[in-house]
Amino acid sequence: MNKFALTIHGGAGTILKKNMTQEREASYRKGLEEALKAGYDLLEKGASALEAVLAATVSLEDNALFNAGKGSVFTNDGRQEMDASIMDGKTLMAGAVAAVRNIRNPVQLAYAVMTKSPHVLLIGKGAEEFAGQNGIKTEPDEYFFSQFRYDQLKKMQASGKAALDHNVSADDKASSSETTADRKFGTVGAAACDRYGNIAAATSTGGMTNKQWGRVGDSSIIGSGTYANNKTCAISCTGYGEMFIRAVAAYDVSCLMEYKGITLQDAMNVVVNDKLVKLEGDGGMIGVDATGNAAMLFNSEGMYRGIKNSDGLNEVGIYRELLK
Ligand code: ASP
Repeated sequence: MNKFALTIHGGAGTILKKNMTQEREASYRKGLEEALKAGYDLLEKGASALEAVLAATVSLEDNALFNAGKGSVFTNDGRQEMDASIMDGKTLMAGAVAAVRNIRNPVQLAYAVMTKSPHVLLIGKGAEEFAGQNGIKTEPDEYFFSQFRYDQLKKMQASGKAALDHNVSADDKASSSETTADRKFGTVGAAACDRYGNIAAATSTGGMTNKQWGRVGDSSIIGSGTYANNKTCAISCTGYGEMFIRAVAAYDVSCLMEYKGITLQDAMNVVVNDKLVKLEGDGGMIGVDATGNAAMLFNSEGMYRGIKNSDGLNEVGIYRELLK
């Protein structure tokens, strides 16, 4: 039996301990642990890497703390448009959606694109119509609305910029009226290796606060935000999407492994701490290889992340050091 492993992220950015309350930290920890459990329990029962990344990502999408599904940020016209993708390292099949609205779990729609259509990427209205035809769950606008995210949008509009949501909040000390549940950060993703030696990755996001509506980030671009190939690695990224697209970040890790013969950790280090830094591509990524090795790297202050494997490793982290 192959060693199996699941790693997840809930977004990277300027996430500092000094801006975090104990209560908030505990909520994130719980969210990360729940997502790890959702995916890892499946791996333990013999499910595929693909099923595990789907379950872990759905758990994070349903958690309003993270910027995906329910917790998605606002576009510049005050709506949510979500991007997601998934890839199977065994078959190199992939599915993705971009700029979709009212979809409860965009990663499930990406999975449906992969398994029920001849296409890889569907966008906007066409993707939503496809969702309807395939029984994908939708939710009304209210499901995605939160006052905190709306306030974040107003703040970004005043500055005329778009931002990673964790960075908007980091500048911004929690106001006294703000509750734990109001502070929501982070694109989400998962990468897994199953007991059969197959790997897969998935990513889902609301994108960047105050993004131009219609903007598509790296999370739905196969090769940039998500990539999986049994020969090399499965990767899910988070960070400044435009730079991750320009760096073709996830595929670059795979190429370094394939053509230079270097390890997952070393390849991720080149992309995250050298290539992306040179492009001012703030963020990070998680990944696995087909022997069950996993890595979680970021060039920002922090990244919500977790890892669980069949050797008994079970860790979550937010800041540079892992949580005790
Ligand atoms: N990469 C995402 C995007 O640019 C944002 C994030 O990772 O938080 O849409």
